[in-house]
Amino acid sequence: MHLRSVGLDKARVYNIRDVTLDRAAFHITFDDGTIAFTEDVAGRITGAFFEGEGEVLLVPRDQAERASMTLFTGAAILEERFITAYFRFNDDSFAELKPSLRPADHALEFVTQWNGTAQNLAETDALRLLLSFSKFLPSSVPGEAAVVKPDGPVDPDRMLHARVQGSKLGIFDLYFDSMTPEQVWAGQLKTVDGDAHYDVWTSFSVDQPAGRADATTGVLSEGAKPDTVKVSQYRIRAKVEPPTKLDADASLQLEVRQGGQRAALFELSRFLQINQVEADGQPVEFIHNQALEGTQLARRGNDLVAVIFPQPLRTGQKIELHFVYGGEVLSEAGSGLLYVGARGTWYPNRGLDMAGFDLRFRYPVGWTLVATGKRVEGAASELSPGEEASHWVSERPMPVAGFNLGKYSRVVAHAGAVQVEAYASAGVERSFPKGTTEALNPDSLTPFQIRRPAAPLIVPAPTPSPARNAQAVADASAHAVEFFASRFGPYPYSDLALTQMPGNVSQGWPSLIFLSSFSFLTPEEKTQLHMSPVTRILSDSVVAHETAHQWWGDLISWKDYRDQWILEALANYSAMMMLESDSAPKFRAVMETYRENLLEKNKEGSPLADAGPVTFGTRLTCSHFPAGYEAISYGRGTWLFHMLRYMMRDAVRKNNGRSGSASEAQADTPFLRALNKTRQRFQEKSITTREMLQVFEEELPPSLWFEGKQSLDWFYEGWVNGTALPRFALHSVKYTEKPGGSVVTGTIAQDEAPKDLVTPVPIYAVGGGRTVLLGQIFADGPETSFRLSAPAGTRKVVLDPYQTLLTRPR
Ligand SMILES: [Zn+2]
Repeated sequence: MHLRSVGLDKARVYNIRDVTLDRAAFHITFDDGTIAFTEDVAGRITGAFFEGEGEVLLVPRDQAERASMTLFTGAAILEERFITAYFRFNDDSFAELKPSLRPADHALEFVTQWNGTAQNLAETDALRLLLSFSKFLPSSVPGEAAVVKPDGPVDPDRMLHARVQGSKLGIFDLYFDSMTPEQVWAGQLKTVDGDAHYDVWTSFSVDQPAGRADATTGVLSEGAKPDTVKVSQYRIRAKVEPPTKLDADASLQLEVRQGGQRAALFELSRFLQINQVEADGQPVEFIHNQALEGTQLARRGNDLVAVIFPQPLRTGQKIELHFVYGGEVLSEAGSGLLYVGARGTWYPNRGLDMAGFDLRFRYPVGWTLVATGKRVEGAASELSPGEEASHWVSERPMPVAGFNLGKYSRVVAHAGAVQVEAYASAGVERSFPKGTTEALNPDSLTPFQIRRPAAPLIVPAPTPSPARNAQAVADASAHAVEFFASRFGPYPYSDLALTQMPGNVSQGWPSLIFLSSFSFLTPEEKTQLHMSPVTRILSDSVVAHETAHQWWGDLISWKDYRDQWILEALANYSAMMMLESDSAPKFRAVMETYRENLLEKNKEGSPLADAGPVTFGTRLTCSHFPAGYEAISYGRGTWLFHMLRYMMRDAVRKNNGRSGSASEAQADTPFLRALNKTRQRFQEKSITTREMLQVFEEELPPSLWFEGKQSLDWFYEGWVNGTALPRFALHSVKYTEKPGGSVVTGTIAQDEAPKDLVTPVPIYAVGGGRTVLLGQIFADGPETSFRLSAPAGTRKVVLDPYQTLLTRPR
């Protein structure tokens, strides 16, 4: 593909002066220099290389994005001089600049100097350009900015990528891509301690208030808005050869929701090689394109595969795509434990999208394979000697499908009609127990920050045997299924399997939990690992957390990176609610640790909270905060649900009269009703942050209607899309006796917070051995005065004594 290595054209070298390329929120100015454009590819000019004096200006859209820009560049607005820059585009950029170009006299010299660089840089955007151009071939007119679609009006497919050598900031990227929901973004590849991160400085939509996109996580747009092509059904036949090999063929039922394009993109592990792709039985072209280094896609171990169809896709068209592929996608950890999925996705998919799955596996006798979905009989057709088979069918659409296998033994527990099985091996992985020091997210016991030298780890003796403790694991999960089903609605599937997985990571997939070996330890074995008390509590709650993902994450998925936190935080808060009902002190200890953790400083002395709001999703994991996503989406996210719940509880308790007659269960009603509604409305769908908050708004007690509006906009703006960790204090409190009671007046100071932060602060009267909720006052900005009725004789009031707000630790 010539797009991948196109060089500079010595007949197109120019002097360039005083001209600006404007793309929505950014502007690239060429003050003075030389620019060479690339050779034609299919009659199009698609790139350029510039050397000279120039400047980039980018103004991020909102406060959160400006804070992000400041974190990475030191200033809220990107204003940077550059000396060289490489450009790639699919539009009329050349024509746009042409009036400012004069032929240069040192053309050959310039091309000789920069051609190699230009050719190397061409690869990054080749796939994106191919998708653009393939869409309109062969009917398109070269050089046109807007192309008429076969079945539609003007296509707004415009893309410009600038890779700039800045004078202060080094090499960075600027993108404008009209085909991604967040059209403008900027970022930089940064490697710290050998770990490559693609730092996203900013990313936003220029045409909608709350943008959403996956562009920043490395998934390229296909020259068409998302959801234009949907996979409704997967049928996968896989042969697993332990310890590492998988050979598979996958048939995908594709539905074209919006046609016009000639290509579709899929994610696939970089360890898998595709041998063939067919569309409706005819071989089609495909391109396996390496993921951009440091992006979330690359960090997941995946690449992109573009399938190119012979004709443009038609709206409403149904296509059966058939992939034949294989490779070393499993890894082996010893003791009959395999690691499935640690090396990227094992089947071609288009991200998390609800679909039906029919999975058949063949594997050697002696191994037990457990997969997502329900096991059905009659799998064996053409088994070779020494082979076993199993067949798994999804009971309802699922966002993802997987399997695990090992030399397991099996135990069973029951939660009503739901069968809960645990599969564990007799031993643990070779590397055990390396790495179990400090962690605050149950999905991963990988230490994301070492606060103190870890206690020396002592290998438990005798060697732990997960199989011995499997019944306790099955029982704990069955208990969690019952706890959650009674609160959130029925468990979504007919059974649940928990399978031992080597390493520190646990994951809750639909009806299949990959559970870290650590979670199979007995209490005594855990004690010997010398975890901190809070890590121990969290380790004990991993089973509940992963079980909660069956509702939050599996039954309901997330729309894009800005919404992923919802499901993580909800699963975690569900487990925390269970912990709270079991042990309030343990619950408080965890919540306190989450709060303290947000103020932990990184190497540069910045607190973790500065990584950004929960809505930054995986962008939070960056070179400054390598575990930012975990800390913010689990820690802050859990607190956000805690705040919502207690805000609503307090409103119910207050409204039900000062007698405090409302039972605890009643007080939780609006919160749980919102979660039930969320489940009903979004099951088998993905959800956005705004959509979730809308459900909570419907259940919002009137006393929480800020400025009389039944809206949580203030919660979204200040708390969800912000990083506030405020401090509250009472000032000028006065008590006046009136017939039948007291009146308390005073001022709430809200400090260390953005000026426009709104927080409903509960105020209690304390006295006579009782603590009485007087009301919730919306603290709006730095100072808010209040007036509340109180029991006669009240002489002391306090703010939020039960710590229901995410404030700065005292
Ligand atoms: Zn989780």
